[in-house]
Amino acid sequence: MRLKKVKNALEKIKESKYYVDFPEESLGRWNQVFSNENPIYLEIGMGKGTFLIEMAQKYPEINFIGMEMYDSVLVKAVEKLENIETLQNLKLLLYDANRLESVFEKEIDRIYLNFSDPWPKKRHAKRRLTSELFLKRYDGVFKEQKEIFLKTDNNDFFEYSLASLSSYGYEIKNVSRDLHHESIEENVMTEYEAKFAKQGVPINRLEAYKQ
Ligand code: SAH
Repeated sequence: MRLKKVKNALEKIKESKYYVDFPEESLGRWNQVFSNENPIYLEIGMGKGTFLIEMAQKYPEINFIGMEMYDSVLVKAVEKLENIETLQNLKLLLYDANRLESVFEKEIDRIYLNFSDPWPKKRHAKRRLTSELFLKRYDGVFKEQKEIFLKTDNNDFFEYSLASLSSYGYEIKNVSRDLHHESIEENVMTEYEAKFAKQGVPINRLEAYKQ
């Protein structure tokens, strides 16, 4: 998602109590950043943070980290957080997931991929967040059990992800190809999801697990 340049976005992000500058310094010790041993869930490409903020409010016993590479997008999450009660279990990173291993080492319990860029062209397949290249990266950041929860409107990206995760050894569970016409009591919506749901576009969802 590219938004038009927001003036002073970076400045505003850096002032936020949720923002972690130089996250490489916390490699291997994110539990100390949160001052507890609770599980850590990471959302890659968190966008404006709707999902992550609601999840952090709903599950205070889980630590949430959001990673987003554009300051013009992340600043929207920072602005939302200014208007609500302080969340002790949330941190935000302005970072490119291609450099994930510089920030986390054996400490993430679950990764959320919500409406990731599908990179439809074959020559860009490596950039998909479920490509083998990325799955290898995730191996090093997960603590023990590996869990990837994915939602997307894009059917081709969904089929690609199912195949890529399975062939990498993930067990796929709770697959839905039309999430909003099934039981979604527990579902927390993202910005894209709300937009697509309104248009009647079916939402795909899966959970992937590996030891
Ligand atoms: N999760 C949000 C936004 C989805 S759009 C939602 O569901 O509404 C995908 C987001 O991923 C964009 O904001 C984009 O900037 C971000 N993104 C794409 N590649 C990324 C990468 N390599 N590292 C970090 N963020 C990335």
